[in-house]
Amino acid sequence: MGGTGAMLKKERLLYKWRTHFGYFVCPALRGKISHGFSTKFLFQENYNYVEKINYQKKIFCEALKISYRSIVPLHQIHSNKILIIKEHEDICPPSLLEYDGVVTDSPSVALSICTADCLPILLFEKKKKIIGAIHAGWKGTSLGILPKLLNAVVQEFDGRIENCLLLMGPSIRPCCFEIKEDVLLILQSRLSCWERAVQKVDNLFYFDLQMANCLQAIMMGVLKENIWSTNFCTCCQSGWFHSYRRDKDRAGRMLSIISSGG
Ligand SMILES: [Zn+2]
Repeated sequence: MGGTGAMLKKERLLYKWRTHFGYFVCPALRGKISHGFSTKFLFQENYNYVEKINYQKKIFCEALKISYRSIVPLHQIHSNKILIIKEHEDICPPSLLEYDGVVTDSPSVALSICTADCLPILLFEKKKKIIGAIHAGWKGTSLGILPKLLNAVVQEFDGRIENCLLLMGPSIRPCCFEIKEDVLLILQSRLSCWERAVQKVDNLFYFDLQMANCLQAIMMGVLKENIWSTNFCTCCQSGWFHSYRRDKDRAGRMLSIISSGG
């Protein structure tokens, strides 16, 4: 097994620094579409959790030159539910938006995902200018949230999988993502690629989220050269990232944002 490192060797996201935070961008999309994966935000304001996330969104939107008001406010629930927003359609259902992904062809909305270990994935279909964002933890991954996003690109927006770029942001890596037998059994029953995404070391099992999603993407027809990633582990690198596994309820969140309208 080559590992995701070998599989994705050349396609690396680039790091940029702003005051208070840094973020990763895709070199192939720089100057073409506003997007980024934040690292930890380093500021001391005495905000509560929700205020802090909103403040982070505001300053990240400013850096990316995206309107903060255009962000679709998702309430993530570790599912495989994807919100589909078509241009010129009403996008404001009255209830809470309980989804772990969103896809649109509208340049007037921005998509945002919050994570602290789970894998954030941004999608860009370059011909039809379709954008997507998903939150893929082990549950969402095992439920096929990425294949579901790719199917929506094709079926709902007439896009093509070979035109899709997938950007995988920082997440927990197998070095820290030990799973117990209950999770292993679920992965074995739901993921056809589980053997390549689970590593066994000294009778302990470790899950490679990025590998599982890459394999699912490639099986769906995404071109290997269109998959971009980072090698960082959110749990190991405490100076850079928030991690739920490391910090439990005290963990903050990183943001991933994309918009085709700027
Ligand atoms: Zn680690």
